[in-house]
Amino acid sequence: MKVGILSFQGSFFDHSKSIETIGYSPVFIKHDTNIQDLDALILPGGESTAMNKINNYQNIFNDLDILIKSGIPTLSTCAGTILLANQVVGGNITIPNIDIQITRNAYGRQTESFEGSVSFFDNEDIYCFIRAPKITQLLSDDVKVIAKHDSDIVGVQQKNIVALTFHPELNNDRYYLDWLHNFIKEGKNVRTF
Ligand code: GLN
Repeated sequence: MKVGILSFQGSFFDHSKSIETIGYSPVFIKHDTNIQDLDALILPGGESTAMNKINNYQNIFNDLDILIKSGIPTLSTCAGTILLANQVVGGNITIPNIDIQITRNAYGRQTESFEGSVSFFDNEDIYCFIRAPKITQLLSDDVKVIAKHDSDIVGVQQKNIVALTFHPELNNDRYYLDWLHNFIKEGKNVRTF
């Protein structure tokens, strides 16, 4: 299985380690020549504004949009989730594919980054929030809440997309890796979750 990871900047290398650990092959996406034949896609955390600027030169977001809409399993974390949101407070709408409103830097500045307890599907673990955004509104009934930190919604699923505001790739705990393995293996069936 080939898993494309947007690799303009941010935590793409950590995601590639997760993918290798579960026996799949990471494909680093830096330009448009290597997105054919992917089985899944990951949009990592980092800085969404920087990713947008780099895309002005590389121009691959349109192709990624088509790929996502084709129904392949797509995971986004943090800045990646900002890229996919239909409404962005304090930032740009980029590859709108999830019916959420997201608010950038909603916990404060970089120094307000923290580790917190997250329920992710039916597991509970400590995960990192790095200058994280908040999912401030669900904009359609198609969006299912799959992760919470206290009362905050920190993960949603809509069809083939799972969008998180924390960084499971920095933990690589057994539960997350097993989930990721199955999510990617489901392929197009992931839409029926
Ligand atoms: N603050 C970043 C942004 O708004 C997101 C941070 C992250 O991806 N960890 O793009």
